[in-house]
Amino acid sequence: MSKKLILIVVDGMTPAAFERAVDGGRAPALALLAQQGTYRRATSVFPSLTPVCLSSIVTGGGPDVHRIPHLVWWHRRERRIVEYGSSFAALRAAGMAQSLADTIYNMNQEHLGADAVTVYEALDDAGIVTAAVNITCYRGRTQHFATLPWVTKPAYGPKRFFYYSLFESDQTGAPFAVRNRAAGSTDAYAAAVGRWLVTRDGFDFLAYYLSDFDYASHAHGPEGAEGVALARTDDAIEALVGAAGGADAFLERYAVIVLSDHGQTPVERAAQLELPLSDFVDDIVVTGSNRAGQVYLLPDARIDAAGLARQLDGEASVEVTLRREDDDAVARRAGEELRFRPGSDGWETTGDASMLDHPDALHRAWSALANPNAGELLVSATPAWEFADLGGRHHAGGGSHGSLVEGDSVVPLLTIGVDASPARITDVMPAVLSHFGVEAPAYTQTLQRVV
Ligand SMILES: [Zn+2]
Repeated sequence: MSKKLILIVVDGMTPAAFERAVDGGRAPALALLAQQGTYRRATSVFPSLTPVCLSSIVTGGGPDVHRIPHLVWWHRRERRIVEYGSSFAALRAAGMAQSLADTIYNMNQEHLGADAVTVYEALDDAGIVTAAVNITCYRGRTQHFATLPWVTKPAYGPKRFFYYSLFESDQTGAPFAVRNRAAGSTDAYAAAVGRWLVTRDGFDFLAYYLSDFDYASHAHGPEGAEGVALARTDDAIEALVGAAGGADAFLERYAVIVLSDHGQTPVERAAQLELPLSDFVDDIVVTGSNRAGQVYLLPDARIDAAGLARQLDGEASVEVTLRREDDDAVARRAGEELRFRPGSDGWETTGDASMLDHPDALHRAWSALANPNAGELLVSATPAWEFADLGGRHHAGGGSHGSLVEGDSVVPLLTIGVDASPARITDVMPAVLSHFGVEAPAYTQTLQRVV
C-alpha cells in the first residue's frame, strides 16, 4: 500500500511568505519539508475566500461543483443571508444562532453540493481511514456528537474528526481556549491533536488545517503576519514531525502536501458595495465581504445584471464585474466588456482578452458564475480596497483577499512523495485519491481539463 498522506493547509499564506520562510531559516519544519519536495505556485478559485477555497480543495471541484459561493451569500429558496463568519459583528448582524448553525452544520450538510464528493467520502468508501483537524469543510460518512451536552445535533465527518474541540472523535487531552485566538490558541489545539494522531499512527489520510496565519495577516497585513504568526505555524507542523520521531521517520511514513487556500494583499480603504446600488434597494440583495461581492436579483427586479454592472462603472473599489448572458460569461472592467465561453479547443472570446489578465481568470470566473448559489453579478475588488461586511467591519490597514488579483489568488504548493503536479487547488483532491489508487469523481476531468 502507498504511504499514508498528510494534507497541511496553512490559511492565507502567500507564496512570497512561504518562499521567504523556507529560504530565511525562520520556519525550520517547513524548510525541511521543502528540501525534500517539489514546490510550485498554484492558483486558487474565485472568490478567493476560505469557505470557497477549502470546499474546492476538499472536493476537487470549483464553486460550480461544490456550490459554496462566498463567505456571505443570499439563500434564494430560504430568502435569507448565509454568513460563515466575516467578522463577529457580521455574525451578529446575520443572527448569531443561525450563523453558527450555517458555519458548523449547514455548510457541510445542506449547502455543499450533493453531487460533490469530498476527499473523506471517497477515501472512507475505499476503506481508507480519514482524519481531519479543524478544517471547516469536513463532510464525511461518520456520525459525531458534540462535546457540549446541550449541542445535540450530530455532524457527519471523517472517521477521526476534531473540530475546535466541539467535535472530538477521540479524547486527546488537547486544550482549547478560544479567547486566546490572537495568541495562536487555535493552531496550538491543532498541534496537540496532530501530535496525538501521529503518535498513534491513527489515520491513513489526515487533513490538517492551520488558521492562525490568516488571522494574523488580516490584522497585520501579509508581510506583518510573518513576524507574528509564522513561527507558530511552523511549530504546528514541527509537532507532527516530532511526533513521528523526526524528519526521516516522518517522511518514511507519510507523503505530504502543503498548500494555502488563498493569498492576501494589503488593504488601505473600505467601501460599501450597497451604496452605488442604493437606487435598487428593493430589487437586489448585496453581499460584500473582504475583497469580493455578490449582487442577487430579487424576483421582479427593475434592473438586470448588465444594468447593475453599468451602475458600478467608475466605482473606485470595483475592478471587475462578472455576469452570465445567455451562453456567455461577461466580464466588465472600466466600461469595457469581454465575453467568453469554453469551446472545444480552449476559450472562445469576444473583446480584448487582456482585460482579464488575472491568474487563470476565465476558468475561475466561469466556475464562480456556474454556481447556482452565486449572485447574478459578481464583483472583484480593486487592489488595496475591501468591501465592508454586514456588520460594517473591514481590514483597512491590514490584509485581505477574495478578488481575482494575483496576490489574493496564487498559493504556495509543496508535494513530497506524491506523484502529481497540481497547478490549481482543485487538483489536490484528485492527486490524493490517485495516491491511494482511488478513482476521482468525473467532474474533476471536465471543465478543469478542457480549459
Ligand atoms: Zn482570511
